[in-house]
Amino acid sequence: MLIDNYNEVRSKIDAAAKRSGRNPEEITLVAVSKTKPLECIEELAAEGVTEFGENKPQELRNKFDNVSRPVHFHQIGHLQTNKVKYVIDRAVLIHSLDSIKLAEEIEKEAVKHDKTAEVLVEVNYAEEDSKFGITKETALPFIKEVAANYPHIKIKGLMTIAPFVDDPEDNRYIFKGMKQLLLDIISENIDNTDMSVLSMGMTNDYEVAVEEGATMVRVGTAIFGERDYSI
Ligand SMILES: *Cc1c(COP(=O)(O)O)cnc(C)c1O
Repeated sequence: MLIDNYNEVRSKIDAAAKRSGRNPEEITLVAVSKTKPLECIEELAAEGVTEFGENKPQELRNKFDNVSRPVHFHQIGHLQTNKVKYVIDRAVLIHSLDSIKLAEEIEKEAVKHDKTAEVLVEVNYAEEDSKFGITKETALPFIKEVAANYPHIKIKGLMTIAPFVDDPEDNRYIFKGMKQLLLDIISENIDNTDMSVLSMGMTNDYEVAVEEGATMVRVGTAIFGERDYSI
């Protein structure tokens, strides 16, 4: 049963939090349901799970529009400007703001829908060519610019996707660095931001991420099993 996998991940999060002197309640587990059928979401939702992550805007839209329970969907993957319209009214949080062009589009759609969009700024901490996200050096000026110019966007924190590594300890410096970056930005007291969320950690490394300060982890494989992209 999926709920057994979910509960196992949840207890590892709680244990990692306690090891590092943190309150487990500070940490939200986002169940990454991308590529998985709606029935998987329904199965967990029936057990009280409410937070789900999707990376394809149309898939998020379809699942949002068809799910039978009041769950939340997170847009966790790269978001193209022409797809903002699919998630603006459906995603509880966009984890992947990575350009001013995207901020402009989110602002435009948020105005249209008379809402404030909550977003995280994606940081490509390890500066991998294959990943989206801004650099750690540009995070502060980027956030200041977005906060000053786009009143219908509320920046809630930072997100990162760490490299895939055999030993999750190899990513510890990234999670530590992200936490410090968040603290540095908080200390700037930027108007129109509320930097409380640190979204980091996936199946391979979420326990280390929690030890270093993650407030949101995005876990797919450990809950739903391997993804099949061939279908
Ligand atoms: C797929 C995905 C995840 C989950 O990855 P797993 O390794 O299956 O836990 C987390 N975050 C993002 C942005 C993803 O695209």
